[in-house]
Amino acid sequence: MLGVPRGGGRQILLVFSFMLAAAWGQMNFTGDQVLRVLAKDEEQLSLLRDLEGLKPQKVDFWRGPARPSLPVDMRIPFSELNDIKAYLESHGLAYSVMIKDIQVLLNEEREAMARLRRLERSTSSFSYSSYHTLEEIYSWIDNFVAENSNIVSKIHIGNSFENRSILVLKFSTGGSRRPAIWIDTGIHSREWITHATGIWIAKEIVIEFGKNGLLTNILKAMDIFIELVTNPDGFAFTHSMNRLWRKNKSSRPGIFCNGVDLNRNWKSGFGGNGSNSNPCSETYHGPSPQSEPEVASIVNFITKHGNFKVLISIHSYSQMLMYPYGHSMESVSNEKELHSLAQDAVKALYQVHGIQYIFGSISATLYVASGITVDWAYDNGIKYAFSFELRDTGRYGFLLPATQIVPTAQETWMAILTIMKHALHHPY
Ligand SMILES: [Zn+2]
Repeated sequence: MLGVPRGGGRQILLVFSFMLAAAWGQMNFTGDQVLRVLAKDEEQLSLLRDLEGLKPQKVDFWRGPARPSLPVDMRIPFSELNDIKAYLESHGLAYSVMIKDIQVLLNEEREAMARLRRLERSTSSFSYSSYHTLEEIYSWIDNFVAENSNIVSKIHIGNSFENRSILVLKFSTGGSRRPAIWIDTGIHSREWITHATGIWIAKEIVIEFGKNGLLTNILKAMDIFIELVTNPDGFAFTHSMNRLWRKNKSSRPGIFCNGVDLNRNWKSGFGGNGSNSNPCSETYHGPSPQSEPEVASIVNFITKHGNFKVLISIHSYSQMLMYPYGHSMESVSNEKELHSLAQDAVKALYQVHGIQYIFGSISATLYVASGITVDWAYDNGIKYAFSFELRDTGRYGFLLPATQIVPTAQETWMAILTIMKHALHHPY
């Protein structure tokens, strides 16, 4: 089915946003919408799951079908809107429009970045309340490490599929192979709020060291490692071509679609439910566990180090704090401890700006997902393994305005400190 007729004013707007996007060489999302469906029961959920097969590569789930209590958000291209809306209506699935025109938000995001970039250049400063490109983040890392070399260093742990450097920041006050905390952001490249939050937190660690007693004590006993851009190829692609790209950028001979979902490529329940063997799927798990260099370099680094006690993997969006397992409904042996720690962390987060998170195991809170980071961490002896889904709950989704970066980072930091504190007081 073709698109609905458009009015004259709208047409001019469409042409204008197309020109803006074309100027950047970016994919255009004019008229694309994010629809929210509230499924009443499992049967309605499975009707939504069927859409991936009925409309291959057309329906982009931002919040996938999980359970009836959770909304399903999906991005629909303009050309498919009539068809999909008709499908929903014919099956009695109630929906609302969360984002009326994705391109409008993308244009606003680009303009805000350009504005702050001008300000940064004129004042030779780095704005923590702006989104940045890979080059900008990597050059920030170099300056940051140079200015704080007493406590921060940069480690090159590998190269991405397209041969970009994979970098980790190490915060340490000395010692060798101290008990360590791992934080990664941006494994899904379109989740821009996660990289921005990681950068703010890195800066905050340096500022608070020596002033905040708790953080100072943590750094006297433990090292903190932060991987800010866990999927550099995908991230570069979100800036150059497709803002909504999730996977990495690997390609293999004879396979039409690019990219593996790096959060399905880990060797824990690999290939199971909640992952996909179709390379064109957004949750494609890849040909084998750790086939992707972005995953393999973390596995090698953490395994070789051998003394990681905490792993925190940061995603967006949905406002959730979760622990293993994702690949099955089975409880982990310290489930009670993780549950009460998650509750404390979520409380600490709430106290900063009144933002509410839900928490629990991944499989019970969200859905079954196999081959994920935190399951691998847990199965490899890291018993404090957590995964965040940051702001928001869907008003902007992956296109969270940059004005929310600092508040999001501030509250997330309080939750992370809560987890670190527990690990400091419960050595193992
Ligand atoms: Zn994610």
